[in-house]
Amino acid sequence: MSRTYSNPLLYRPARPAPRHVAVIGAGTIGPDIGYYLKSALPHIRLTLVDVAQPALDRALQRCDDYARKAVARGKMSEAEAAAVNAGIVGTLDYHALADCDWVIEAATENLSLKQRIFADVERIVSPHAVITSNTSSLPAQRIFAELERPDRATITHFFAPAWRNPAVEVIAWEKLDPDVLAYLRWIFAVTGKVPLLTSDVVCFMLDRVFDNWCNEAALLLDRATAAEVDSAVAAYVHAGPFFVLNLARGNPIITETNTLQAEEEGEHYRPAPIFRSVDTWLTVAPGKQVEMGPETAAATRDRLLGVLFSQSVDILDRGIGSAADLDLGCKLALGFKHGPLELMRDLGEPKSHRIFERFAAERPGMPTPARPLADYQQFWRHLLVDDVDGVKVITLRRPEALNALHDEMTDEILAVIRLYEADPAVRGFVIVGYGTKAFCAGGDIGRFPSMLGDREASAQYARDCSRLLVHLDAMEKPVVAALNGIAIGGGFELAMRCHGIVALRPAWMQLPEITLGIVPGIGAMVVPYRRWPDAAAVFHGMLRCADRLEAPRAFELGIVDRLAEDYPALIRAAVERVDTLAGRHTGVQDGKVRIAAFEPIEPKAANGQLLSAEVIGIIETAVAEAAAAATFSEALEVGYRAWGDSACTAAAREGITAFQQRRKPDFTKTS
Ligand code: NAD
Repeated sequence: MSRTYSNPLLYRPARPAPRHVAVIGAGTIGPDIGYYLKSALPHIRLTLVDVAQPALDRALQRCDDYARKAVARGKMSEAEAAAVNAGIVGTLDYHALADCDWVIEAATENLSLKQRIFADVERIVSPHAVITSNTSSLPAQRIFAELERPDRATITHFFAPAWRNPAVEVIAWEKLDPDVLAYLRWIFAVTGKVPLLTSDVVCFMLDRVFDNWCNEAALLLDRATAAEVDSAVAAYVHAGPFFVLNLARGNPIITETNTLQAEEEGEHYRPAPIFRSVDTWLTVAPGKQVEMGPETAAATRDRLLGVLFSQSVDILDRGIGSAADLDLGCKLALGFKHGPLELMRDLGEPKSHRIFERFAAERPGMPTPARPLADYQQFWRHLLVDDVDGVKVITLRRPEALNALHDEMTDEILAVIRLYEADPAVRGFVIVGYGTKAFCAGGDIGRFPSMLGDREASAQYARDCSRLLVHLDAMEKPVVAALNGIAIGGGFELAMRCHGIVALRPAWMQLPEITLGIVPGIGAMVVPYRRWPDAAAVFHGMLRCADRLEAPRAFELGIVDRLAEDYPALIRAAVERVDTLAGRHTGVQDGKVRIAAFEPIEPKAANGQLLSAEVIGIIETAVAEAAAAATFSEALEVGYRAWGDSACTAAAREGITAFQQRRKPDFTKTS
């Protein structure tokens, strides 16, 4: 498949996953990068190289500590931790890199040092080894231009803490082999990272946002304190700039990177002089705020939004990164609650214009929008859309929520389908999840908690949430769900409404609503019984006990049409399925269906959790009534109303409250 897909997993790499990776520089971030790779690919060899033995000793200790903590928290078994820590070596000798297939440099931020390191590396490693730098600011052109084989070298920019932070910028520069770029994006995606494609400019994409936001915060200190500045931005970030600078000991970095930007792009980027004289800022912890006058609050907020908006339009106007990557990257990498473009959209055009004008007046030289503001909002926020042989592959991309659906994502899927369904060049659609874990982990809880106790409002909510699903019912062009991982709750309800399902062998499906004291109201009590009536007993177990359905079993039952071994094969199978279904798929059947009766059961999930007998009763009644309904749409209505009924139970209140409080629900008191 082509190497230019927006979903990095559509690419099938010619070179295998790495076997021996070296990280050069075992200081603050190097060991974290190594640990991330070793925990994702435990069988690889990892060599940490430094010029200082104490740094290596601390690095090995840190890897050990991470693995111990993972075991203590139940995230890893002892055996897994042992495998992760096996094969990690620390050395002062560059010759240990000889058989590496990937060298990642994370040494001190200094251009001539990095150039020297790469000249040495190139003398030692094979001409095919991939070479990357974790520089925060230096363009690839400067670091790699003198290499003999610059086509296998680029920047892969991680964010702290790199063992856990999913964002990685991967820099596309003119000499880089497009296959190496596609390979790096692929390897990051298969190891749980979210690669963000960025062009080769000073500070790339996200540090332009972060460094200038911090710099602007420091420039504001003539009118507000650090604690006031951090308080003024609490609405849209988890931690203010000064708190983060303290945490990351970041003052010298901002001075360095903003000096670089000033030299390259103009004096308006000059770092605030105060960074040179202050070590630690006096500020408030995240979640805490200090009182401040309304005028100072407004001026601070506007100025910091101003710099975010200004950097964002610059990034888009210069093609430094994509709009979706910018917003997602700010959330994943920088701890923003909302991306800058999302903030701009929510503020509305008149207010955004006012912020731009005020910022331009206070900070002449800073970038201003080159286009109408509405232009910057024209993008899919939660989807990647690729074309594979005339089939639109829609990738659900909310990695922070296992690709869970919410209103905006539902509307985007619907909009993509509407955009292309009449296009004769498009044969059909495939829906797949981003990454290797999840197809879609259900629906965000959304407005549901506010509707508890209101039967009509809840039922209407279920009808509203079904707008994409009823559109799928009426479509002529086939839509195939490609289950690359778990399909849970609303995610499975989406898959079962597609006209075909293909799955990776390890994928599984589940309807866990009953464990929250509610029912799956947008089709799961109706659709499977009409499409696969012979498997009724399996669906009974899924609905009443939250039993899992593994993909191979679903294949045996005819629910999944094809099993695939890897992601590109899954997409291939889905595209082929689109072709077999073209002109042949029928909607979900009308008329009554005969299904197996419910056997009485203990209200208990497979994991032993006690469930609500009352809600199980609602499910049994709804399934039977829906099966007896004369038409499919009447059957769906039964499901919506049952959702309304479940919303009025004490079990639902307990289940939803427990979910919000991150505790296990206790249904013993409710039924
Ligand atoms: P650091 O100063 O903590 O560590 C650098 C390490 O490199 C030190 O242990 C040093 O001994 C070693 N080193 C120096 N010269 C070397 C050489 N010739 N060969 C091998 N090792 C050598 O720096 P850091 O914060 O870990 O940053 C490393 C790189 O990663 C920098 O380019 C930085 O801009 C970038 N970066 C850091 C972060 C972060 O959060 N720390 C985030 C993104 C990018």
